[in-house]
Amino acid sequence: MKYVLVTGGVVSGLGKGVTASSIGVVLKACGLRVTSIKIDPYLNTDAGTMSPFEHGEVFVLDDGGEVDLDLGNYERFLDIKLTCDNNITTGKIYQSVINKERRGDYLGKTVQVVPHITDAIQEWIERVAVIPVDGKEGPADVCVIELGGTIGDIESMPFIEALGQFSYRVGPGNFCLVHVSLVPVLSVVGEQKTKPTQHSVRGLRGLGLTPNILACRSTKVLNENVKEKLSQFCHVPASNIITLNDVTNIWHIPLLLRDQKAHDAILKVLNLQGVAREPDLDEWTNRAKLCDSLHDPVRIAMVGKYTGLSDSYLSVWKALLHASVACRKKLVVDWVPSTDLEDTTAKEAPDAYKAAWNLLKGADGILVPGGFGDRGVQGKILAAKYAREKNVPYLGICLGMQIAVIEFARSVMNLQDANSTEFDPDTRTPCVVFMPEGSKTHMGATMRLGSRRTYFEVTDCKAAKLYGNVSYVDERHRHRYEVNPDMVAKFESAGLAFVGKDETGKRMEIIELPAHPYFVGVQFHPEFKSRPGKPSALFLGLIASSCGQLDALLQNPSQPNKHIPAKISSNGVFSPKVYPNGHQNGHAYKPVKSLVNGNYYANGNGVHV
Ligand code: GLN
Repeated sequence: MKYVLVTGGVVSGLGKGVTASSIGVVLKACGLRVTSIKIDPYLNTDAGTMSPFEHGEVFVLDDGGEVDLDLGNYERFLDIKLTCDNNITTGKIYQSVINKERRGDYLGKTVQVVPHITDAIQEWIERVAVIPVDGKEGPADVCVIELGGTIGDIESMPFIEALGQFSYRVGPGNFCLVHVSLVPVLSVVGEQKTKPTQHSVRGLRGLGLTPNILACRSTKVLNENVKEKLSQFCHVPASNIITLNDVTNIWHIPLLLRDQKAHDAILKVLNLQGVAREPDLDEWTNRAKLCDSLHDPVRIAMVGKYTGLSDSYLSVWKALLHASVACRKKLVVDWVPSTDLEDTTAKEAPDAYKAAWNLLKGADGILVPGGFGDRGVQGKILAAKYAREKNVPYLGICLGMQIAVIEFARSVMNLQDANSTEFDPDTRTPCVVFMPEGSKTHMGATMRLGSRRTYFEVTDCKAAKLYGNVSYVDERHRHRYEVNPDMVAKFESAGLAFVGKDETGKRMEIIELPAHPYFVGVQFHPEFKSRPGKPSALFLGLIASSCGQLDALLQNPSQPNKHIPAKISSNGVFSPKVYPNGHQNGHAYKPVKSLVNGNYYANGNGVHV
């Protein structure tokens, strides 16, 4: 096993995760099998108890692991399925060491950070690196390890120490350190400044780690003399200094690495030159260019608890993007804070109320993502009602399905006090109820989590067709509440179809309104399994229906984008229709200002594509 460690210096939010994933992509394109590990030095055992509005979304894995959103990037970029152990946290490491101590495994020794914690880290890495994640047997060739945080953080010290020991132990030829750093440009003089990188490399060396490759984030390509200077002061050959300049979408990052021969540098350090082939990135190239060329917008209103951090719904956004690209549309996501749709906002902040409703009414499709707690629920119910009544395409995910059920009960079945016991434990009409096996006292890992099977009850429905007329699908879950099984018959006779159920037939997984152009709700989270080039079926349904392509798609659902008239030119790039005053500056691509004036390439606030 060979290891590539990716560390970050100077500031956080440089897009280390995307860089690490892109390194994986290039190595995979060279014919190598790649796995990955993300180290998060925080004390939480996992991301499950962390607020998505503070830390970004909680990504859910097949095995039910609630992990850092970077693992989502790895899964999407490398098309792999990781395990919860691929996300190491300080909490997990300490817990394992303390458990061992309580069992008496340390035989009376004083248990210390060095060697016990550092050994536990190394053992964890070696154990997890060999787990196959690409569906093939046997371990991968290369494991990319991303160390979260910035060099110098107090909490990452035990990991740095462990990784220093580890690099020594696995020996030269098996370990390559890529340090992602920042080369700022001072606007006054327009000069690319190397000092922050010099300092962070010095810090890294001081902690016992020697970088083999420098990946420098900068607005523009690094000047040769800047590379020379960095090489001289950081003791890294100029050929191993890579510029990660701003690009129009993050699918360009693997191409940037390839163009600068980063793979050659890595393969040389890892002694893999004889094994690997020249990277084949045709598909990535086409996709990156295609994405740049799309101008015809599809507007999706995302109705949630939006608080300014778009990372909170990262996978949903990516899934929308994958589907939009397949439909050859430029995705425009309008974030609608659900509370702004509510009557109280009409009185207290009429402008916000008007703006929210204008966005909702201007949308081609509406999506209500997952969520917890009762804040903004009424606004989400109003959005579902609007979509249902006005025949606007709707996709409700988890909570988005539950509120659609509540709305249906209230409006169509005239059950005014219908509610979820999550929001009103004493409701007289509980149409969404707590699942019996859940825990009411503990928050961490007490939900119905991970991959579960949904069987189609009806074949003649949009969801089944979109999934390619299969009899079941495996999707990832994360919920405590479910549609009340005792009310299902009543719902069905009122016209709400439960087209997908779990293996017992008692748990509702997919709802549909047969007479509506596209009104689908799912108890699971299909966004976690969407991939670039392989969009999630129900997201594809939403986007296709939002831009008038659903009928064509349903004729040929197994081949997304075959339903689109062939406008691909010989170089594989779609020639778009240019809309003079369209929505080219849609939110989805709007840069979030970063410290490096980066536009689309991931910063901490998550403008990822
Ligand atoms: N709060 C709801 C539940 O626990 C929905 C969860 C979700 O949307 N992920 O069932």
